[in-house]
Amino acid sequence: MIAQDKIDLFLQLCGDAEKIVLTTHINPDGDALGSQHALAAFLRSLGKRPQIINQDPTPDSLRFIEIPDLPALPYDEPLHDPVLRDADLLILVDNSAPDRLGRMERVMRELAAKTLCIDHHPSRHTGWNSNIVDVRSSATTAIIYELTRHGGWQPDLRSAEAIYVGLATDTGFFRFNSTSAKAHAIAAALLEIGVQPARIYREIHEQNSAAFTRLLGHTLCGLRLDAGGAIASVTITRELLERIQAEDEDPAEITTPLLAMGGVQVAALYRELPDGRIKVSLRSKGELDVHKLATEFGGGGHRNASGIVMSGSLDDVVNIVTGRSAAMLAAAES
Ligand code: 5GP
Ligand code: MN
Repeated sequence: MIAQDKIDLFLQLCGDAEKIVLTTHINPDGDALGSQHALAAFLRSLGKRPQIINQDPTPDSLRFIEIPDLPALPYDEPLHDPVLRDADLLILVDNSAPDRLGRMERVMRELAAKTLCIDHHPSRHTGWNSNIVDVRSSATTAIIYELTRHGGWQPDLRSAEAIYVGLATDTGFFRFNSTSAKAHAIAAALLEIGVQPARIYREIHEQNSAAFTRLLGHTLCGLRLDAGGAIASVTITRELLERIQAEDEDPAEITTPLLAMGGVQVAALYRELPDGRIKVSLRSKGELDVHKLATEFGGGGHRNASGIVMSGSLDDVVNIVTGRSAAMLAAAES
């Protein structure tokens, strides 16, 4: 449940502003983009002029939820900083962490006084002017759905798909712990509007490229098990990505077959970024809180799905994070 004062705040801020810019975290996912497109459609229904500006482009697999004449624009500092400064209201969705804004961090910090943050991540940063944060929400799109319903809005089919995409992707198509009765209730309402779950699944998960499938195979061959088989991890080097021409693939889904193994409680994927830092994707099933683990190293996320970007060699990062995961598992069992 979103508190009534937060609903009133949302409707008042949207009602008062004319020029509204929506943004989100780096590498926007289904929940980030779903939230932006549903919110943009709602704002247009109020006669507002929303724009979507994100550091990173929309992945091809999520283009189907874009409003055709309102695509998310890839952030271009000289072009967009004046637009951001001129806006009446900035809405930051699915993220509250400044360090997940990438190149947009500087201007967003400068404009924090007119920023409304709508998110479901546990937050360490409270610098935004207004905050509607519900950590019990399965997805940010679920919050957007509730807020806009209170504004008397009935989503059109495309917006319903956008909201469904956020819910489905953040809950692993309704199988993670973050899945709730409410997530299903909202999904049911979206199906009434015409959303077809099979079509959404196909658009998002059945469009893999040959390069991704080769990357999956190469990566899984390097499986490492620690803590008596409770921790499964794999690594992806730049050398591999270049050799099999998979630089453009998002490998985070490779954690799914790791977690599917019996006995595994934590899955970790380590990959070298172009700048030499290491991106760690952590997933858990059951009790181990990978959000807690990630925050120890400056990352964040959710209880069962988190991420970190770390400096150091691939081997060192693997050893440090594996050691800490094993210690947390041992502490949980004792
Ligand atoms: P993924 O492994 O798919 O990139 O990220 C899983 C989740 O962890 C994301 O939904 C996001 O909430 C969080 N996350 C990923 N990377 C980072 C990071 O570098 N910093 C923070 N604060 N959160 C992250
Ligand atoms: Mn989310």
